[in-house]
Amino acid sequence: MRIPKGHPRYHSLQVRHRLLQGLRDGLVTEAGLIAQGRGEAFDYLLGERSPSEARRAARAAAALLLQARRPVISVNGNSAALAPRDLARISRLLGAPLEVNLFYTSATRERRIAAHLRAHGAPTVLLGGGARVPGPAALGPRARVHPRGIAVADVVLVPLEDGDRTGALIRAGKKVVAVDLNPLSRTARTATVTIVDNLVRAAPLLAETLRGMKGWPEERLERAARFDNRGNLDRVVERMVRRWTGIRR
Ligand code: ATP
Ligand code: MG
Repeated sequence: MRIPKGHPRYHSLQVRHRLLQGLRDGLVTEAGLIAQGRGEAFDYLLGERSPSEARRAARAAAALLLQARRPVISVNGNSAALAPRDLARISRLLGAPLEVNLFYTSATRERRIAAHLRAHGAPTVLLGGGARVPGPAALGPRARVHPRGIAVADVVLVPLEDGDRTGALIRAGKKVVAVDLNPLSRTARTATVTIVDNLVRAAPLLAETLRGMKGWPEERLERAARFDNRGNLDRVVERMVRRWTGIRR
């Protein structure tokens, strides 16, 4: 379907089509489309632009990732369909592997996602399995992680993650950088640093921020990594409310 450029939802419709293509290609699940819908509702409240809070969070996130000894990037179907090139770029900038981690486990879909990421320039893609991150029994197969990936990582980037799994990573003593449009989600609230932004904007933003900060001395990274995540999330919530009460008046 061709979407006229001037359509007010042009970008959002394009992104939907990318996910639908991902569904046809066997990367994305039907539930993934619903998750995107939840995200879109919050993007609408943001005005579909990266807020300054996202830029601030991206700086703190970049500092954490650059300081990490073993950073790993966790990828699911939606993130692979939405931002494969930028995630591959982040992986190269950090020398960190991408690890495929699915909510609905499927070996076939894992392999398709890995191939898709490699085709977009990812040098190393790990497939989940082998080790388990300790967590509630309800985590079930979702606790599977790669023994040389997330299992031994100190900082994990989770673009689009579920709250239970984010909690399990934090309890395992890891620092977590999340991308989530919902500033109220359990993921957003439990992560070490949350970038509240659409992944299609947050991934290139983080890649650019990393590029700019690469090579900074340790003390400067240390300062940039200090971050009040809850305070930043509260400011995004206020921004969303202010924007819409302002329009109503
Ligand atoms: P949680 O498990 O953290 O409590 P949830 O159960 O409400 O959150 P899930 O269905 O587990 O949500 O995951 C979807 C999450 O991903 C939502 O919080 C949604 O805002 C976010 N999301 C979906 N699409 C995007 C996107 N393109 N960019 C950023 N965030 C997104
Ligand atoms: Mg959830």
